[in-house]
Amino acid sequence: MDTSNQNIIHLQGIGSQKVEVLEKEINVVSCQDMLYYFPYRYKDQRKSYRVDKIREINIEMSYVQLKGRILRYSRSLNYPRLSGIFDDGTGTIELVWFNSINWVPKYYKIDEEYYVYGKLRFFRGKYISIVNPQIKTECKFCEGVTRMQGIYRTTAKMKKASLDSNTISQIMRQILEYTKEPLSETLPTGIIDKCKLISLDEAIHNIHFPKSDNLLEQAQYRLKFEELFYVQLANLLNPNRRKKQLDGFCFSKVGENFHFLKNNLPFELTHAQERVFNEIRQDMNTGKQMNRLVQGDVGSGKTVVALLSILTAIDNGFQGAIMVPTEILATQHYETISHLLEGSTVKVALLTGSTKNKVREEMLPKVKSGDIQILIGTHALIEDSVEFSNLGLVVVDEQHRFGVTQRAKLWDKNSTPPHVLVMTATPIPRTMAMTVYGDLNISTIDELPPGRKPIRTYHIYDEKRNKMYEYVREQLKIGKQVYIVYPLIEENEKIDLINLQEGFRAVSKVFPEYSISKVHGQMKPEEKNQEMQKFVSGETQVMVSTTVIEVGIDVKNASVIIIENAERFGLSQLHQLRGRVGRGTEQAVCILITNYELSKEAQKRINVMTKTNNGFEVAEEDLKLRGPGSIIGTKQSGFAPKKLRIANVSKDVNILIRARNFVYEILNADPALKDPRCNLLKQQLHKWNTKYQTQWARIS
Ligand code: ADP
Ligand code: MG
Repeated sequence: MDTSNQNIIHLQGIGSQKVEVLEKEINVVSCQDMLYYFPYRYKDQRKSYRVDKIREINIEMSYVQLKGRILRYSRSLNYPRLSGIFDDGTGTIELVWFNSINWVPKYYKIDEEYYVYGKLRFFRGKYISIVNPQIKTECKFCEGVTRMQGIYRTTAKMKKASLDSNTISQIMRQILEYTKEPLSETLPTGIIDKCKLISLDEAIHNIHFPKSDNLLEQAQYRLKFEELFYVQLANLLNPNRRKKQLDGFCFSKVGENFHFLKNNLPFELTHAQERVFNEIRQDMNTGKQMNRLVQGDVGSGKTVVALLSILTAIDNGFQGAIMVPTEILATQHYETISHLLEGSTVKVALLTGSTKNKVREEMLPKVKSGDIQILIGTHALIEDSVEFSNLGLVVVDEQHRFGVTQRAKLWDKNSTPPHVLVMTATPIPRTMAMTVYGDLNISTIDELPPGRKPIRTYHIYDEKRNKMYEYVREQLKIGKQVYIVYPLIEENEKIDLINLQEGFRAVSKVFPEYSISKVHGQMKPEEKNQEMQKFVSGETQVMVSTTVIEVGIDVKNASVIIIENAERFGLSQLHQLRGRVGRGTEQAVCILITNYELSKEAQKRINVMTKTNNGFEVAEEDLKLRGPGSIIGTKQSGFAPKKLRIANVSKDVNILIRARNFVYEILNADPALKDPRCNLLKQQLHKWNTKYQTQWARIS
């Protein structure tokens, strides 16, 4: 029997509370829904299990674990640097420390056996070292399981209900063990044969518990194919979906608040801003709910377009909300908008995770009564305690950071859905968007405000660092501010943080006469905010940080951004970071620092960055570079439409096109799917429509 249709309540260890949370947070009711909740990445447990040989180290390797002895230590004369020569019997390599250098030789004795773990650094392709290695007396790095482990996304509420990634994994195992019969196939046999896809049963098993890299890849391919196939089949079967849009508010008036801002803007709107705003106005005047995506390069002036739209809502007696992914960005929007509205009667409030309880308690009733007309904030906005009087328009800024359910919740705050405006600086190529979203309206701000000088982007190697610092000093001397960004990815969090701290210390030494801020994701939001504010106000001149500054921050006086280990960033992320400078009319510079050894891919990314400033070109290149295929174990960069569970319209272009061709073929032969052989398709579409699509269509 195919048990996968059963409700998850029948599973061991799943009580009514967990059932409720799973449904609310990730829309999972049946075992089958659960099985379609895929890991978003995999932890490769085998890597840390292996012991590498120094002789076999090559330039492609990144992290290694070695077993051997330290032969001797030596110190640098002029600066704090300790070096240890490590021998594993097949060769030697240098271990390097910049801190704790007195403590290390006392603790790690010469000629004793240790396991060493860390990231390789290559110099001129030959000379190999590990900076700040982790050292253990026994093979500590091989704890845990020796296979690829799926990691599942969980929300705060899920974690609170003890539904972390591990628990989800256990639930999957339980369901798969219960389900004795193979899962019934969801794609027509013809397609499976032609595309040499693995069966649904095999795919589901391997997506959760991969037996091998190869099977995982095949499972991903098969499930992505299935998803893109049904998304497109649904879209093409029903081209009139747009007409069936839900009813929405009609904002027919153009009133005093709109005119107030229009008359008081310190600049003229660009043509592109005018055009996009008009498209939005028209949407909000049809009586149907607006679902519009505004894409515009960093610095193209999306904020003011959003604000004009919100003021239109207010002029028609409604409230507006702006939701952003970070507290820093929320604060900044709040300040910008309050400033632009000074002298008007519009009431604006800021609500984030660190808003004090007392302030909250005063604020929330005013939101509920309609007294507060614009509420700006982070996902604190979607908490149940936040009630609006009549929410007319929701703006979601930098959308790729939000998940489906988060947006759905904001949307649910009214009985009539508010209009939804999604803003993003990461453009979606039009053909892709049309195929997949079908009914999503897109506006593009394809023009920058006048007077902007293109940012100059340079690529330098580590050894030119001192020269670069000279340049930075010149900029600081004339009163400019500087960002220095370090990579931080979950997998190497500890080591990355050490790098950042090291960098901070080094920069503090180079520029003792300037104040330096440090911001990273491990800090408390409040602390982070404070540090960021210091930089915004000019109290500090240099900002050393991880990518937390990536989205939206606007400090006009910052003229230089330095990106350390630039080879480790994705293309769209580099472009986003670069967009932090050049926001005024003065010349700005972006410096990408890398090691000598760059993979071909990294070299291409760097080339694109130095070649073009145009976000759309960057996005196109990004699409070409990444192509289909999976990047296991690395965080996905760029936009990933959260509506899709597994496919990514920018990465999986080939699968998308392949699936589309089958859809065309089927619909050409049988436009309404009348042939009984299409029953499986209809049945799947129905399932897909009720479970998946309704949620989708409402949210985008
Ligand atoms: P983004 O599209 O990246 O969100 P912002 O809305 O933050 O861009 O705008 C970037 C900067 O450009 C802001 O400082 C804003 O005041 C300014 N700006 C926006 N529109 C114009 C315009 N039409 N002319 C001049 N400056 C503008
Ligand atoms: Mg913005």
